[in-house]
Amino acid sequence: MKCYYHPDREGVFKCFKYERHLCSDCIRCQNTKAYCKYRDGCAVYLLWDEENNKRII
Ligand SMILES: [Zn+2]
Repeated sequence: MKCYYHPDREGVFKCFKYERHLCSDCIRCQNTKAYCKYRDGCAVYLLWDEENNKRII
């Protein structure tokens, strides 16, 4: 699968809620406030969250 935003790139991470594949540049939770039943096991959310924490610190 290709990245949802970059058709020329490989989408290595998948948002299960929106069923979109994302490349490493696009990794970002689409809607952090909405309930998502996949969030606990979501690589997109976890990695995005880690990046956010780094910036805050
Ligand atoms: Zn991308």
